[in-house]
Formats: sequence, C-alpha cells, structure tokens
Amino acid sequence: MNLALLFDEDFVAPDRVVLQGRRLEHIKSVLGVAIGDQLPVGCVNGLMGLGEVVKLTDSEAELVVMLEQQPPAPLPLTLILAMPRPKMFRRILQTSATLGIKDIWLINSYKVEKSFWQTPLLSNENLRENLTLGLEQAKDTILPSVHIRKLFKPFVEDELPDLLKDKQALVAHPGTANACPTHSNRAAALCIGPEGGFTPYEVGKLEDAGCQSVHLGPRILRVETAVPVLVARLFDACL
Ligand code: SAH
Repeated sequence: MNLALLFDEDFVAPDRVVLQGRRLEHIKSVLGVAIGDQLPVGCVNGLMGLGEVVKLTDSEAELVVMLEQQPPAPLPLTLILAMPRPKMFRRILQTSATLGIKDIWLINSYKVEKSFWQTPLLSNENLRENLTLGLEQAKDTILPSVHIRKLFKPFVEDELPDLLKDKQALVAHPGTANACPTHSNRAAALCIGPEGGFTPYEVGKLEDAGCQSVHLGPRILRVETAVPVLVARLFDACL
C-alpha cells in the first residue's frame, strides 16, 4: 500500500478521516507510523495528497488530509478478458488496476469453465476491494469499471464493434502471423483468451468485429503474465 485510498465512509470531517482494519494494520505494522507522521492518501475517483496522523489507537488512526494532486493519467486501454479462474482473476484485477487500466470487460468463451462465473470475487464489494489494492499499489485513485458479459456472441456482435471505434483493436492469439505492435501509444482495445485459448470460431468472430490477431512470440504466457507484457509493449507510459 503506497497510498491509502479513502472512501466517503472514512471521512469524519471534510479534511479528516478515520482508518480501521486493513489500512490501520498496514500503516502500523508495515509503515510503522507515529503521531505527526505524514503518509500518501487519495480520495477515490479524486485528488491525492498527504495525511498527517493526529491520533493513533489500537482500533483506529485519525488523519488530517490535504488533497491537491491529480492522480496519474489513465491508460487508454479497454481490456476484454475471457473470465479467468478465480485465483488468477484476483491477481489480474489487482495488476490491471495497478497498470492504470480503467475499463475491464469480462466475457464468456467456450473454454471458460461455467463455475468461474460463480466466484464471490465478482460481487461489487470484492471487485472494489481488489481494484483498491491495485490502485493503492500504484498510487492512483480512479477506480476502474468492470462489465460482465456472460454470453459471447451477443457481446461480440452487438456491443464490441462500438467499443472498438477509434481504437487499435487487437486479439492476443498465439501462433498468428502478426506480432503485437510495440510503442503504439494510442487508444486500444485488447482481447485476451482463457487458459485454453479462444477457439478458431471465437477468433473469427472477434476479427469480424474489427480485431486484428497478434502474437507475443513462441512462448505461451499465463493470462496474468500476458496482460502486463501486452500493456508494456503497447504503452511507453507504464515503463
Ligand atoms: N492453450 C492456448 C493458450 C492460452 S494462453 C493456446 O495455445 O492458444 C491464454 C491467453 O493468453 C491466450 O488466449 C492469449 O490471449 C494470451 N497469450 C498467451 N501467450 C500468448 C502468446 N505467445 N501470443 C499471443 N497471446 C498469448
């Protein structure tokens, strides 16, 4: 946690917050803060700055906050992801938030196991918690939005073409002819398949909607690895 992300419910006055639970534990045991110390804070979807510890007990820390700094620029990337298995999904959510991705679409695909959609990680509360951890790592405040689409065909036929407008649209698919572009630094939409990969039919549908298939070399990467590799190739901002 390189920044404590603050939510409405943390504020006890316009410039005062009370932290409990995970954030309190972290600032005490990892950061070892004392009264008078300042630490980075940020208001969710708002400004960042410093919080000065004015009260510290076993159960809470009270901070006076000064918020004047803009969060870092978002990455102009729409990430379209075949729903991953839960353990990997948690890490991908956090990493995506850390990298500055603000628009995440979770879609079905033939090789997505049906049980993956049952994970409690998809609840609003758990999505917010994992995205928060990613933002706190990066020192960012803008919460990404997550859209869930459990039917592949209607999504790809009815929604995807609009999503791709004015963007470089790519589907990462091993073994295709073209290598993923580098340093493109323009608005992009990126589709990433499930552990078993997209089927040829699905790749065809994504191409029909406007995506270009690209590869990342001969090694097959886990989805959680493919995301940062693709982002780092496309955007200099995150290097
Ligand atoms: N068994 C699958 C691989 C799936 S890897 C197959 O052979 O197709 C999971 C996803 O990560 C892929 O669908 C793709 O979107 C991405 N990915 C992993 N390694 C990649 C590579 N070398 N090139 C392009 N995409 C890759």
